[in-house]
Amino acid sequence: MEILANCKEKRSWVEINISQLRANYRSFQKVVGDDVRIMTVVKADAYGHGDVQVARMMEEEGCSLFAVSNIDEAIGLRKAGVNGEILILGYSSPGYVKEIKEYDLTQTIVSEDYALVLSSTGIPIKCQFAIDTGMNRIGLDADDSIACERVIRTYCRKLIITGIFTHLCVADSDEEDDKSFTRQQLYKFNKLATRISDLKLPLVHCLNSAGGLTYLSEIKDFPLINRIVRLGIVLYGLKPSSNFRLLPDLQAALTWKSVISMVKTISSGESVGYGRYYVAEQERKIATVTTGYADGLNRGLSNKGFVLIRGQKAPIVGRICMDQTLVDVSDIPNVKMGDTVIILGASGGMEYNADDMAEDLDTIGYEITCNISKRVQRFYYNSNVNL
Ligand SMILES: *Cc1c(COP(=O)(O)O)cnc(C)c1O
Repeated sequence: MEILANCKEKRSWVEINISQLRANYRSFQKVVGDDVRIMTVVKADAYGHGDVQVARMMEEEGCSLFAVSNIDEAIGLRKAGVNGEILILGYSSPGYVKEIKEYDLTQTIVSEDYALVLSSTGIPIKCQFAIDTGMNRIGLDADDSIACERVIRTYCRKLIITGIFTHLCVADSDEEDDKSFTRQQLYKFNKLATRISDLKLPLVHCLNSAGGLTYLSEIKDFPLINRIVRLGIVLYGLKPSSNFRLLPDLQAALTWKSVISMVKTISSGESVGYGRYYVAEQERKIATVTTGYADGLNRGLSNKGFVLIRGQKAPIVGRICMDQTLVDVSDIPNVKMGDTVIILGASGGMEYNADDMAEDLDTIGYEITCNISKRVQRFYYNSNVNL
């Protein structure tokens, strides 16, 4: 882990507040209760926060269940010393069964055909069945619970089946028809869990962040479903969707910073950047920021978004370039070369986090943090958040 003092020379970097991540984890655990197990979802490099660092820290917090999207992420965690169960949520090419066994990983079974191929290798790997209750992405179709039961029983003899799980697709919505859709999903999942209850699978789970905050009380009626939440976005202090109300203690742990390389004044009528997309209507002071779309700053923010400098908003002017962005600092006194720029985070009394940027881009916070590119180095620090 590099120390923060070293990052002065970077042109674009991310600072992750480890204490805040811990606080988010603990707050969530406190709200849902001690009987709930958290499976930390660290896919896509922990939504851009650094999977190894996040997983290690969560192990220190007592977490023993992790989920990733693919085999490479899973092996990366194992090699870094993560000991807990690691569930690969998506398809792995069957040629990887040896690695799955060697690194003691758990593979999701996406279909009956896939189960057949995996078992034909003769290597008994740990697996969990995905159950499709309405997302129509992966899994055995829960509408045919008899077929699901037959498939699960068949492969329990050939593979090490440790659980089944389903995924909710509108758990973040408070519309009545979405709520009834989610309840249908839970009901279907429970029906299957009941059919195979004699197998006593240790991990029967269905809740993501939004589900964990909204539907835990409802699965109390379904004792065969384990009180497990696969926790992703909320752990990072972001919202599952814009209408969702986050727990008050949860806060974004990620700050994205950059610097100003130069400041200049342009006169009325002069344009800025590619395509002459911005033309000054009066004299303007323009600062060049050393972050661009290759760093993950979405080009859709051209002439639209802003960054924070000295606790004030500096509007992005012109088109965002690959490695640089131009901002208007006319209203911010004393801006100069080397000043810190906050792309995401707090500055002075202002805060602009990934959820705010997501709203400006009509997307979700997940996409914003995942898209901060690999060349933007991550640094980790502890703050004095109340734990
Ligand atoms: C990504 C993912 C999660 C975590 O979702 P969040 O909304 O980030 O909590 C849980 N389960 C599955 C299957 C996922 O793919």
